[in-house]
Amino acid sequence: MIEENTTSEIVNSKVSSPLRPLAAERLEAVSAWGGASSSVSYVYRPTTVEQLQEMLSVAAKSGRSVGLRGGGNSYGDAATNSENVLLDMRRMNRILAWDPLSGVVCVEPGVTISQLWQYVLEDGWWPPVVTGTSMTTIGGCAGMNVHGKNAYQVGPIGDHIQEFEMMLPSGEIVICNREENSDLFYAAIGGFGVLGVFTSIMMQMKRVYSGLLDVYTQAQPNLAGMFEYFETFMDSSDYIVGWIDSFSKGAGLGQGDVHRANYLPPGADLAPSQTMRLDYQHLSPNMFGFMPRSVIWIFMRPFMNNLGTALINKAKYLSGHLAGPRQVRQSHAAFHFLLDYVPDWKNSYGPGGLIQYQPFIPKETARDAFVDMLRLCQRRGLPNYLTVFKRHRPDDFLMTHGLDGYSLAMDFRITERRRPRVAALTRELDEIVLAAGGRFYFAKDSTLRPEVAQAYLGKGTIEKLKKLKRRTDPHNLLQTDLWRRVFG
Ligand SMILES: Cc1cc2nc3c(=O)[nH]c(=O)nc-3n(C[C@H](O)[C@H](O)[C@H](O)COP(=O)(O)OP(=O)(O)OC[C@H]3O[C@@H](n4cnc5c(N)ncnc54)[C@H](O)[C@@H]3O)c2cc1C
Repeated sequence: MIEENTTSEIVNSKVSSPLRPLAAERLEAVSAWGGASSSVSYVYRPTTVEQLQEMLSVAAKSGRSVGLRGGGNSYGDAATNSENVLLDMRRMNRILAWDPLSGVVCVEPGVTISQLWQYVLEDGWWPPVVTGTSMTTIGGCAGMNVHGKNAYQVGPIGDHIQEFEMMLPSGEIVICNREENSDLFYAAIGGFGVLGVFTSIMMQMKRVYSGLLDVYTQAQPNLAGMFEYFETFMDSSDYIVGWIDSFSKGAGLGQGDVHRANYLPPGADLAPSQTMRLDYQHLSPNMFGFMPRSVIWIFMRPFMNNLGTALINKAKYLSGHLAGPRQVRQSHAAFHFLLDYVPDWKNSYGPGGLIQYQPFIPKETARDAFVDMLRLCQRRGLPNYLTVFKRHRPDDFLMTHGLDGYSLAMDFRITERRRPRVAALTRELDEIVLAAGGRFYFAKDSTLRPEVAQAYLGKGTIEKLKKLKRRTDPHNLLQTDLWRRVFG
């Protein structure tokens, strides 16, 4: 039940009176995943569609806007809604239907990627698109139209969603698929939670014949090597990802490791029912047999400065280079969710946290643009500490970040002194991205300005989104901090 409180004060009124205040005890501090921004909101956690409907209605009567939050893994302010209502959807986490013959699953939006793969794997299926952490919810993944390390092959998650049900702020539920309400289908997937609330999502899973992947790792001496590797292996690999040492300079600029992986064909794994078991997938909670993974971030903390991360990046590259090309068989979970195996690693960045900047650049201009960007970060004394390189393909979703090209995800540590310098740097990076015909990604964004969004999306696209929003949400109830910052 959503409580009302007659003693609270109302601010930020938007709808006609009588306005009803919300219970002050619902106020919680909520942080962006990267920890570089936070806000206070009235937080509610519905478990049923009826509760959700009631919460939307009561929030509307309070005069406050409503933000939607899944697992809260967006790096910036996409899932926060300062001084307003925030609906945390994680308790709507039931698997509604599963057909192990066809691999079609229907889930509530709070089901996580972790829950999903653990549910389907022993039947010989794997989610077609997974994120680098398994803590994301399917609702949040649809809201951002996330991509995996196989984006160039299979597109974003939206390409595998067959249908969803979405509650509008009025409480009405609409069914959307490629035939019915198709304009909403293509806009709400990737529409960062401002058109309606997903209440169920139906998706096709990917057939697998083993709990293992064939994984190949090879060091690349520079950015040109990275690009060449991707172009050579794209057609024959199910997944590829590059990790770049952003401190490297000169002929070694953009050096790093590439990991690519392939599913095993039928018959290659002699005991698939064993390798698809969950206990086979899970990694040990300890490192070196004795050190709990949960404390690793504490040991990383002293290295989270330019000198420390330069050394780590260099050591990582050199060890890959000296070891030469390697091939191993790895479990799906170990390959995909490497970042989850160092719990709370973001804490190593310190109290100011981090932001990520992930531009997507067409393949024709990406080489030059990435060279310019890496050099610019170095010149400004702000090389990024973790840099991930991926290949993508275009898709049909309205607010898409996908294109026939590459992305570079760059993590910047934030401290009080660095914050204005990083902000100034991202403005300069924006210019490079726009000049190269690039795009941005709301899941990772903390710095995008309205004029930059308009420049890459085009006025027409933004107007289309706003027109649909006027139709589904005429009182502009669904908002987030990102929505107000970029489109407000
Ligand atoms: C370590 C790490 C690795 C990552 N790796 C990747 C990656 O490989 N690929 C990638 O694409 N992204 C990646 N991300 C980003 C992350 O996948 C996205 O931000 C994703 O949207 C987070 O899902 P979430 O459930 O946490 O949603 P949140 O961050 O809580 O919300 C995301 C958006 O969805 C909206 N939303 C939430 N629930 C609903 C709902 N029920 N109905 C409608 N809208 C809703 C929210 O309003 C918000 O705009 C990564 C993030 C982290 C922290």
